[in-house]
Amino acid sequence: MPIATHDNGSFWFDSLESLPEPEKPSSLPRATDVAIIGAGFTGLWTAYYLKQRRPDLSIAIFEAVTVGYGASGRNGGWCMGLAMGIEDLLAKPETRHVGIQVLRAMHETVDEVGRVCQAENIDCHYQKGGTLTVATLPFRAKRMRDRVERFHSMGFSKDDYRWLPASEAKRHINCASNYGASYTPHCAAIHPARLVKGLAERVRELGVAIHELTPVTNFEPGRIHTEVGSVDASIVLRATEGYTDSLSNQKRRVMPLYSMMVATEPLERGMWEEIGLTQRETFGDGRRVVTYGQRTLDNRIAFGGRGSYYFGSERKPRISPEDPMLDVVEQNLRDFFPILHDVEVTHRWGGLMGVSRHWRPSVLFDRHTGLGSAGGYVGEGVAASNLAGRTLSDLVTGENSDLARLPWVGDDPDRWEREPLRWAGAKAVKFFGDRADRKERDSNAPSRLWGGLFDRLVG
Ligand SMILES: Cc1cc2nc3c(=O)[nH]c(=O)nc-3n(C[C@H](O)[C@H](O)[C@H](O)COP(=O)(O)OP(=O)(O)OC[C@H]3O[C@@H](n4cnc5c(N)ncnc54)[C@H](O)[C@@H]3O)c2cc1C
Repeated sequence: MPIATHDNGSFWFDSLESLPEPEKPSSLPRATDVAIIGAGFTGLWTAYYLKQRRPDLSIAIFEAVTVGYGASGRNGGWCMGLAMGIEDLLAKPETRHVGIQVLRAMHETVDEVGRVCQAENIDCHYQKGGTLTVATLPFRAKRMRDRVERFHSMGFSKDDYRWLPASEAKRHINCASNYGASYTPHCAAIHPARLVKGLAERVRELGVAIHELTPVTNFEPGRIHTEVGSVDASIVLRATEGYTDSLSNQKRRVMPLYSMMVATEPLERGMWEEIGLTQRETFGDGRRVVTYGQRTLDNRIAFGGRGSYYFGSERKPRISPEDPMLDVVEQNLRDFFPILHDVEVTHRWGGLMGVSRHWRPSVLFDRHTGLGSAGGYVGEGVAASNLAGRTLSDLVTGENSDLARLPWVGDDPDRWEREPLRWAGAKAVKFFGDRADRKERDSNAPSRLWGGLFDRLVG
């Protein structure tokens, strides 16, 4: 993995009070009980909960660049009570009860992140203002209302999911077109880099060693290999998400897909009186090529959209701020809030999401080999990585918990196809999603052809 710099180019890293230079270790310990590869949310939450349950374990995290360098320090900051794959479970009668169980676990996870931040004094600007999905087209209002009703029929209450008619929705968020919005309180806006750096500090205080600038090249049962040397470990946990291809024995396990973000300058109070978002509700508009935004604590808008895939799973350390895909995201933001036409966009960056072949996350642990992993969250891993970390630590410690029986445990995906099939598939998903969104915008009706193709590939 090329290491150009330890700064990941995001607004979040730029807004940290200080960004200390990571230090490359000259030597590594010969052995540790648990070796974790990757210091993003997944690796750090796993270490955190493992240390809570088993303070006697020696744990070392090996990070190629610096804490939070990956998606965890670049994302949209939606700590959301949903994860990829749950809606599929809910859609089928035979898996609905499991879907409900996982969804409730995700709701609780949003509170768990808030609880730990408070208990550990991690000031990550956590505010549980919920999330608004705005119907920017009239036909989507019906689709979203139906979805809210489906949740109610499954036993969720109006305190979990609520339809806001246009007049009420506009009081929450005054955007270009607003035909109503679905609202759930199960989402908190956070500053992701403050969370990931704060969590790393607490984990270090608990006695976990974090070795930065230490790329792992390969691993096997009982041992990891780095450029500095090998380390024995009876348990090896992979938490490398969109960068998994950097490990020579993990090729084609996770597809790296870019998501792109922009952030504005801080907006004046008058503008916020127009826009709303008084509770820092996160917001999106429910189109297929996902858009997502949050009001930051310092009154900017951080806004993103799904980006692209590069042939051969190429991973760029940083996306150039001049990248044309960022122009599209910036334009989407200005279309969403026309009041922003003269506002300066101060930051433009991208980051890697990890997509597994079945398009849902999994948590894996093999007691016999001591090997485990968690990830494949696509763009929904901020809270899910906490649940995954708790789950992985239960599996490692042999806890017979409800978490260890969640359906993502042992749900091992196939490897991705070889090129050029993988590239063609990724391009097709983006193409179908864009076509479906455009068709729906022009016709104000569901796009059965393009939308159906998109759903079939992603589902
Ligand atoms: C732009 C963007 C916006 C997003 N927005 C949201 C959102 O709003 N809400 C949400 O829920 N999710 C969002 N996501 C997804 C979410 O950020 C991720 O799912 C989550 O951060 C994954 O955490 P992780 O620790 O598994 O992976 P990462 O944070 O990517 O961490 C992996 C770490 O492993 C290290 N690493 C990789 N290979 C090696 C190696 N060989 N040796 C050592 N270290 C290695 C990397 O340097 C990296 O630090 C977004 C993602 C992106 C990119």
